[in-house]
Amino acid sequence: MKIIMLGAPGAGKGTQAKKIAAKYGIPHISTGDIFRANIKNGTELGKKAKTYMDQGLLVPDELVVDLVVDRVKQEDCKNGYVLDGFPRTIPQAEALDKALTDLGEKMDYAIDVDVPDENIVRRMSGRRACVGCGATYHLEYAPTKAEGICDVCGKELILRDDDKPETVTNRLNVYHEQTQPLIDYYTKAGILKTVDGTADIEDVFQAIVEILGA
Ligand code: ADP
Ligand code: ADP
Ligand code: ZN
Repeated sequence: MKIIMLGAPGAGKGTQAKKIAAKYGIPHISTGDIFRANIKNGTELGKKAKTYMDQGLLVPDELVVDLVVDRVKQEDCKNGYVLDGFPRTIPQAEALDKALTDLGEKMDYAIDVDVPDENIVRRMSGRRACVGCGATYHLEYAPTKAEGICDVCGKELILRDDDKPETVTNRLNVYHEQTQPLIDYYTKAGILKTVDGTADIEDVFQAIVEILGA
């Protein structure tokens, strides 16, 4: 089962991708998480990616495509995977299609988590990420048991720099210009499924499970 999560920043792609990965036993591949891990470890890729991410811009396609194509060829991906945050541009989608065709494979679903712009700023300003394990919470909608402390590993939570309102506006513009055209792309490919991302986290997940099957 090979799945792409589409949706605006803050729509809930990561939240749902983690639940899909756990239920179906497939890897969750988040390009944002990969970049943030590289930044934390001070790698060359991390240094390059950071200059774009800080401005709310996309990292150039050539820094992303090979990374993902190599990742999906690994052994743990043989029964499928859920891509979260990739592809984000038409050239990325085309490169992915080509790589899959070369392997004799194809994508099964592109799930669009649909949330209007009005809801996004509140989603992002309340998002908190764990500095230790990267788990994601929301002050209002997905709170931790103890305030400011990760339920999973006990480390502290932070507001991502790129979740501050001034960067969120840029990211939304970038989404509409560069990523939203993928909805059309995957509609034409016949694999687009849309879920209402404004529903509660569990209800969104139920809608996804109905699409994917139990
Ligand atoms: P969100 O969860 O809010 O959608 P991500 O964690 O997926 O954000 O991505 C954070 C940032 O990492 C993006 O704003 C972008 O700069 C960079 N990034 C992640 N994935 C990609 C990609 N596929 N192509 C280009 N840039 C990416
Ligand atoms: P994305 O990966 O698309 O950027 P996230 O999964 O990180 O989005 O979700 C963004 C924020 O919104 C997080 O703080 C998350 O806890 C919260 N969130 C996710 N899904 C929902 C939902 N259905 N209702 C309310 N809040 C949500
Ligand atoms: Zn943690």
